[in-house]
Amino acid sequence: MNIEEFKEAVKALGISITNEEISKLEIYAALLKEWNEKINLTAITDKNQVFLKHFYDSLTIVKVLDLNKVDSLCDLGTGAGFPGVVLKIFFPNLKVTLVDALNKRIKFLEYVINKLSLNNITVIHARAEEYAKENRECFDVVTARALSSFPVLLEYGIALLKVNGHLIAMRGLNDSNDGSNALKKLNSKINNIIEFELPFENSRRTLIDVVKLTKTSIKYPRRYVEIKNRSL
Ligand code: SAH
Repeated sequence: MNIEEFKEAVKALGISITNEEISKLEIYAALLKEWNEKINLTAITDKNQVFLKHFYDSLTIVKVLDLNKVDSLCDLGTGAGFPGVVLKIFFPNLKVTLVDALNKRIKFLEYVINKLSLNNITVIHARAEEYAKENRECFDVVTARALSSFPVLLEYGIALLKVNGHLIAMRGLNDSNDGSNALKKLNSKINNIIEFELPFENSRRTLIDVVKLTKTSIKYPRRYVEIKNRSL
């Protein structure tokens, strides 16, 4: 996907796009390639592939959620900043918190945020389950792309949400575990599931939109080992 194709595809999602946003993405893609030579950030560094599989893919979340109406967003297991940093570039209204367990990626994110002069964006070096224990019921939206199995993600993602908040899980093929037991325990329900194919290469994507119905029991999330040994 070249820049012109990217612009068209983003407009087709209903998102307006400026030259400033494009130049921020160009810098971001260059930094990703540069840093990736020293630390492992992503398997994808070819510019056209980054624009398709990281930047465009991150923005597809608007298929299930109007981000203009969202205040606070927490991106769990953000890695090199997907979708969190891309969403911040296009929706500067968002107060974004990025969480990742790997310190090298945190350093990269801090550098990118500074280079792109983004504000109201915080980077947290933590495991999601620990961060969720300390920050219960704090966010309007939680996002997570390619993180954990669905029930495991639900256990720490839902605790972070305010009541009526949405967790958007961005995944490849639909999960083998539909999370029904976890959803019951966490008083949440699936609001919407959208499946589509990425343009050009036609790989499958699934967006699962979960809404939190009531406050989460203090029992959840459990400790890392317990979650790992027996997911909900
Ligand atoms: N969301 C990014 C990265 C996906 S890879 C993308 O779609 O490109 C998963 C990332 O989650 C890695 O960066 C890993 O360090 C982080 N991670 C895995 N388990 C985690 C946990 N329990 N808490 C926080 N981060 C975690």
